[in-house]
Amino acid sequence: MKFQRLEDAIPKKNALKGKTALVRVDFNVPRNKDGSISDDTRLQAAVPTIKALQTAGAKIILLSHYGRPKGKADPKLSLEFIVPALVEAIEDEVSFSEKLSEPLISTMEPGDVLLIENTRFNEMETKGDRGMAENLAKHADIFVMDAFSAAHRNHASSAVVGEILPAYAGLAMERELDHVSQVLDNPKSPVMGVVGGAKVSSKIDLLESLVSKLDILVIGGGMANTFLFAQGHNVGASLCENDLKDKALEILKAAKKAKCKILLPVDVVTAKEFAANAKHKQCAIDDVKAKDMILDCGTATVETIMKAMDSAKTLIWNGPLGAFEMTPFDTSTVEAAKYAAKLTKAGKLISVAGGGDTVAALKHAGAADDFTFVSTAGGAFLEWMEGKPLPGVEILKNKTK
Ligand code: AMP
Repeated sequence: MKFQRLEDAIPKKNALKGKTALVRVDFNVPRNKDGSISDDTRLQAAVPTIKALQTAGAKIILLSHYGRPKGKADPKLSLEFIVPALVEAIEDEVSFSEKLSEPLISTMEPGDVLLIENTRFNEMETKGDRGMAENLAKHADIFVMDAFSAAHRNHASSAVVGEILPAYAGLAMERELDHVSQVLDNPKSPVMGVVGGAKVSSKIDLLESLVSKLDILVIGGGMANTFLFAQGHNVGASLCENDLKDKALEILKAAKKAKCKILLPVDVVTAKEFAANAKHKQCAIDDVKAKDMILDCGTATVETIMKAMDSAKTLIWNGPLGAFEMTPFDTSTVEAAKYAAKLTKAGKLISVAGGGDTVAALKHAGAADDFTFVSTAGGAFLEWMEGKPLPGVEILKNKTK
């Protein structure tokens, strides 16, 4: 996919000397109860772009949301807590301000970094207000979008400001876009998808989009039960959205028409209670009893999935194949993820995963590091897979500002 990259804004050394860059990052990091940062992945992701802009001589203004303050200042959701961690990460000073102002910028030197308070303290942010975006844009020369995880929102600081200023993808955003487009826009075929998770209802758009694009689609997790039910199998006491029976049949029909092979579980692991280490058994899909709950795919299903992976060149994965938070119902997710990681490591498969619980499931399997790419973006990754245009990406395609 073609889009404007940070490198386009910095054709030569010091290209941004005397210029100001507004940089949208995602510092919405998870924290422990004592306030400390429990996972600094998002913070670290922003560092290469900040450093590149420092080297280019720009004054750097960082914008991010944090939590859901509902449009007014909430001290508990102030972004100031991130400053010490950011100072450590970039090994340089960072200033903090509640508001952006001309006098403040005029005191900045090339390479200085200023973090602005939580963008969502302004109620206009989530409304995608043009006035708020103009107030931000008037202080800067370029906009750098480096928060793929916020790219599906048409918010003032992540999309609208990029309609006003020349907009470039930051380095973290570039990596995300290059990888997701590698698997969906121009993939090496055969292309295989694995979609799991709890419910069909949250992934209808996704399934509809994927069946038109993929050669093979594995449907696992709780959502597979709805498809099995629709096909006339007894799913006992399993999580199942009976009212989506017709939708499930429609998706299967669309898959057939598009020549996308659907793989549903042929055997399953069941228990009578939804609990770790609950008494369980494995059985063929036609042997599920009224009080059984399907909590994982069985060994024959995993073998079929692995065989399909052997035949694929590209894999896209969203959602676990079973209730992976509870042993032993993590087994099929772990085995299939490990196998995909092994094929990827051997150079036989391009594997990209993301959205919701997927990162946690792949980390749990010890497979995340060997995937080609694991996106930390939830909603944005899903909407991308659904084939929807993302406002924070569309602004990077327009060169006429
Ligand atoms: P999602 O956020 O839609 O990707 O769903 C992830 C959740 O689906 C995880 O918490 C899993 O425990 C849950 N899940 C996966 N398979 C099943 C299943 N067979 N029955 C109930 N929950 C499941």
